[in-house]
Amino acid sequence: METVINIGYLVAAVLFILGIKGMTKPKTAVRGNQMSATGMLVAIIAALLDNNVVSYEYIIIGVLIGGTIGAFIAKKVAMTDMPELVAALNGIGGGASLLVASANYLESQKLAAMGQFVPTYDWSIAVILSILIGAVTLTGSFIAVGKLKGKIGDAKQVRLFKWIVKLSLAALLAGAAYFAAVDPVNSDLLIAGLIVLCLILGICLVMPIGGADMPVVVALLNSYSGLAGAAAGFVLGNNGLIITGSLVGASGIILTSIMCKAMNRSLTNVLFGGSMSESSGVSRSENDAFYEGKVKFSSADELAMLLDGAQNVVFVPGYGLAVAQAQHATRELASMLEKQGAKVKYAIHPVAGRMPGHMNVLLAEAEVPYDQLVEMDAINPEFSQTDVAIVLGANDVVNPAAAEDPNSPIFGMPILDVHHAKTVVVVKRGLSPGFAGIPNELFIRDNSLMVAGDAKKVLQDTISALKDL
Ligand code: NAP
Repeated sequence: METVINIGYLVAAVLFILGIKGMTKPKTAVRGNQMSATGMLVAIIAALLDNNVVSYEYIIIGVLIGGTIGAFIAKKVAMTDMPELVAALNGIGGGASLLVASANYLESQKLAAMGQFVPTYDWSIAVILSILIGAVTLTGSFIAVGKLKGKIGDAKQVRLFKWIVKLSLAALLAGAAYFAAVDPVNSDLLIAGLIVLCLILGICLVMPIGGADMPVVVALLNSYSGLAGAAAGFVLGNNGLIITGSLVGASGIILTSIMCKAMNRSLTNVLFGGSMSESSGVSRSENDAFYEGKVKFSSADELAMLLDGAQNVVFVPGYGLAVAQAQHATRELASMLEKQGAKVKYAIHPVAGRMPGHMNVLLAEAEVPYDQLVEMDAINPEFSQTDVAIVLGANDVVNPAAAEDPNSPIFGMPILDVHHAKTVVVVKRGLSPGFAGIPNELFIRDNSLMVAGDAKKVLQDTISALKDL
């Protein structure tokens, strides 16, 4: 039976890996998701066959309660609330590891008293890691949920939180070392104290981080929840949990690093540097002075005329497209242009918007064909042959300063080279900066025009104007 169970875990792991690979491209993402779900089913069946620890009644009750709540939430959640849901699920994952390891500790304590269990270093390190990382992930994730929902504002006492973090880490190290090295079975008070400390640590780690940096934090907490799960796998001697936890831990940290790279920031800067616009942004008057008299304003009618003769058009979506919910209007305009014989593409920057894959999700909602979504490295060489690049509520991800101005706070961040297009039309409500809080020289370039207004309204007006031509 043990061999069958381990083969089950292996099959599940292969399905998870293939699933994650599938999810790297919009075209194969749905299949990737289905593969991962099948992998999880196989892993659950394997775990159910492994009935050493708990009776089936408890499992059935757990599946019924958890399944009902999960199905209800999944049906109800709006696409825009996905980051909050992911953050909450990370927290619950961390909490589960904390509970599993705590229960195992109490059980082992009883067995040790009867002389049936001798703690090893491996066991005590796995227990303590699972408990500690699980507790930090639990509270850290729920603070992230509060920040994403806008219920918890950016903290004023950043220094105080940093001090609490430093002191807690020192106390944790000492406590964990005592537990693992000196007395791993009779440390109830110590364990309880460490759990409370880690719950506080989770809060203090996330509180000082700017709300806009939450997507990076959620990716990092996702990685923590995986590590806590892997440690719980070692505690239980469950290979499936070790493999799954390691996969989540590794993919979470890779995603965190991709996001940091695409924002040209170090993880330390995100975690301890405060919000980006606070540290680098210009004042309103500096921003206005930068643009004064230099922006060429245009209109939806002029944009329609430009598009009427265009052969190659690239839409460049950004955070403002999500704010305006302009994805359907974008698709409608794109379809009209295609009917007129134009070639249409969408340029996707890895950190456009406020969460990984934000633009992909939005455009998929409007059923934009996957093959028209082109990633940054592939679309950049095409801008020089593009007649009109329409920048829809994007700002930082098209700021040439990132490539050209070594003094810019975003210098080094890879951008979409829209400025190489014959004409760039920027659609945004005014001259406000984006996430980084800095002006954008693209808007005053010779080949740029700006149509001021809400992206959805401007697109709808352009569609009407195009129909009238
Ligand atoms: P952005 O630089 O934040 O700029 C968005 C622009 O949208 C703003 O300048 C705003 O200007 C405009 N806008 C807002 N509402 C609008 C509406 N209703 N209609 C039209 N325009 C509207 O956005 P981005 O170019 O997508 O860049 C993303 C930024 O977020 C990057 O700096 C990235 O590093 C950061 N970030 C991304 C992630 C991620 O995972 N994607 C995570 C954390 C941080 P107006 O107010 O003048 O309209």
